[in-house]
Amino acid sequence: MLAINDLHATVADKAILKGLSLQINAGEVHAIMGPNGAGKSTLGYTLGGRPGYEVTGGTVTFQGEDLLDLEPHERAAKGLFLGFQYPVEIPGVSFVQFLREAANAQRKVRGEAPLSGGEFLKLAREKAGLLKMDMDMLKRPVNVGFSGGEKKRAEMVQMGILDPRLAILDETDSGLDIDALRIVGDGINAIMRRPDKAVLLITHYQRLLDYVKPDFVHVLANGRIVRTGGPELALQLETEGYEAVAA
Ligand code: ADP
Ligand code: MG
Ligand code: MG
Repeated sequence: MLAINDLHATVADKAILKGLSLQINAGEVHAIMGPNGAGKSTLGYTLGGRPGYEVTGGTVTFQGEDLLDLEPHERAAKGLFLGFQYPVEIPGVSFVQFLREAANAQRKVRGEAPLSGGEFLKLAREKAGLLKMDMDMLKRPVNVGFSGGEKKRAEMVQMGILDPRLAILDETDSGLDIDALRIVGDGINAIMRRPDKAVLLITHYQRLLDYVKPDFVHVLANGRIVRTGGPELALQLETEGYEAVAA
């Protein structure tokens, strides 16, 4: 699904990723943990193709294709979804409008016919239901006045509608109370826990991993993966701290 080999990337001329390698197969859930400033979000943005994140070395293959050669919208159309640590507000555009545009833009890149209004609404209702989100909420402007938990749930509705192959979720658990954490965790499992899909969870804390069980846990420090283990590594990090474990 994804093969990252010796990836180097800079942000504002500062080297952040310094030889990061990681392989993710279909059907797997991987978690990346690491201290603040380690480069976790930089990894997500670099894979998503965000402007300003410059690749200075290494390769990334996504479903057998050179990912770095693709424009951000092409990466998305080919099945890469990036969930943001800080979802943006878009005043003046309703969430349903935004979701329909996004879904149809991707279908267009893939050469598929756009969803009709009825088809789209059916899909939106189904995914909103999974995330226990009221459709009325989705008629409001994108994220404007949404609580932290509502933003993350809405983002998971978006993920459900776009139906990606690989989801990279950057601190999707931040700002969630226990109930929202369970809903979001269940949503991720329902949408992404399939043999033809994979998930990369970027997180500071192990609590999301109680709901979305990772197959592999990696520690990112100083711009590379310094340790890989199973779910027990996340628990060890929680009790012993990054410094002890990553050293
Ligand atoms: P993490 O998500 O692991 O907390 P980030 O990837 O956000 O870490 O940041 C890694 C490093 O890159 C930090 O030192 C941060 O200050 C720096 N950085 C990130 N974005 C920028 C930017 N736009 N300009 C300058 N430095 C940045
Ligand atoms: Mg951070
Ligand atoms: Mg971050």
